[in-house]
Amino acid sequence: MVSEHKFTPVSDIPKIVAASRATFLTHRTQSLEFRKEQLRALYLLVSENSADLTGAIRADLNRPSDFEIPTCLRVIKSFIENLESLVEPQKATGLIGTDKSFVRLSPLGTVLIIGAWNFPIMLVIEPLAGAIAAGNTAIVKPSEVSVTSDTLLTRLLRKYMDPSVVAVVNGGAEETTVLLKERFDHIFYTGGVAVAKIVMQAAAKNLTPVTLELGGKCPAIVTDKTDLAKAAQKIAGWKALNCGQVCLSVDYVLCPRHLQDELIKNLIGTWQHMYGKDAKQSDVYPRIITKRQLERLEKVLSVAKKENKVVYGGESDLSNRYMAPTILTDVKLEDTIMEEEIFGPLLPIIDCEDIQGAVDVVNKGEHPLALYLFSDDPVHVEKVLSETRSGGVIVNDIATHFSNHSLPFGGVGHSGIGNYHGKYSVETFSHKRAVMVRSQAHL
Ligand code: NAD
Repeated sequence: MVSEHKFTPVSDIPKIVAASRATFLTHRTQSLEFRKEQLRALYLLVSENSADLTGAIRADLNRPSDFEIPTCLRVIKSFIENLESLVEPQKATGLIGTDKSFVRLSPLGTVLIIGAWNFPIMLVIEPLAGAIAAGNTAIVKPSEVSVTSDTLLTRLLRKYMDPSVVAVVNGGAEETTVLLKERFDHIFYTGGVAVAKIVMQAAAKNLTPVTLELGGKCPAIVTDKTDLAKAAQKIAGWKALNCGQVCLSVDYVLCPRHLQDELIKNLIGTWQHMYGKDAKQSDVYPRIITKRQLERLEKVLSVAKKENKVVYGGESDLSNRYMAPTILTDVKLEDTIMEEEIFGPLLPIIDCEDIQGAVDVVNKGEHPLALYLFSDDPVHVEKVLSETRSGGVIVNDIATHFSNHSLPFGGVGHSGIGNYHGKYSVETFSHKRAVMVRSQAHL
């Protein structure tokens, strides 16, 4: 499968975009029946190939029990079933009794969707479903790093979708640079901050609006109003998923010192229950996506080792892209590990005696994509909600807001611009057009 992995010749890219624009200008993507047809094709793409898609994700990331495929199916199905109500014009009050005023959700045109490798199927299919539901044509650029998923998804998109409505461009920085020179009506990008700045600069040349779904350092605040065993299960379970390569993973924990021994015991207990005493021997413990990414993590880890901050784990093996679930304590904000999003299975714990201290630490960094609070105290909850900023907040859980599609999903500041999911996806890929219809009596 991987031997098929090919990048799009850069000379083809302008033609691909021009064809997509030409299709939009035929207006055929506007009809709801056409949109549903495309969504049904997308549903079939995923449902008829779910085993192969799951296998591709496993080949790239060794991630076994996969929720990407069920999520994609649920999302597409929901758009098909609710399309009429999602795009229904929203009535507005008129100026004078006789005019009709309403907001019409109009498709933007030709949109570009750039995916990331950590959820290589879902991060393409989910925004794509929103773009189609809103009546656009789309060019998708899956991540070239998740080679097996990129190859399979490309083949399936070409087989199931109308290529003039959904086209694929494959490649890395070189191809994406050429792609970004083209004019789009919206760019939806998922990935890291450095490339997001490149995307936004390219978009600015054409005043193209962007949605940037980024990451950052998501903190978990553990308070003395917490069931430590349950909090540890959530933090450790989500940290191990995809080996920490999840934008919503807990990046660091803020916890009073007197609770840390108990918390650490439960974090270790959770990992050992999931993967045994040696995660390397487990069939289901994921791997770091590339050797390059592992080397980046090893550098951070080696600094922490020199400073004697590793209290659990710390092993890695470049030959099979393995890094053990690892806990660091006595971590300070100035430490190397706190400089950038970790995006791996390293979990630093920072001493933080009370909720005020936790809020102060959070406010020293960039706004995270998600902020997690473990507490049943409504005063804690209100303090965090009113005195910090983040894309989302979850009290007493990790990452599950992603699955609630009645909530918008996105960041703020350096964790992103814009949002999607459910009706928010349709809005992201639509223009809210103000329409006022007055009778000729007003002329
Ligand atoms: P990345 O920034 O390296 O790459 C993302 C995309 O940009 C890829 O398709 C890649 O081909 C393209 N790209 C790479 N270099 C480029 C260049 N010079 N010019 C133009 N395009 C270029 O991101 P990544 O490593 O794939 O993903 C990891 C990051 O994504 C993390 O920061 C993570 O938190 C974030 N993320 C966010 C979400 C979310 O929904 N908010 C989801 C997953 C990942």
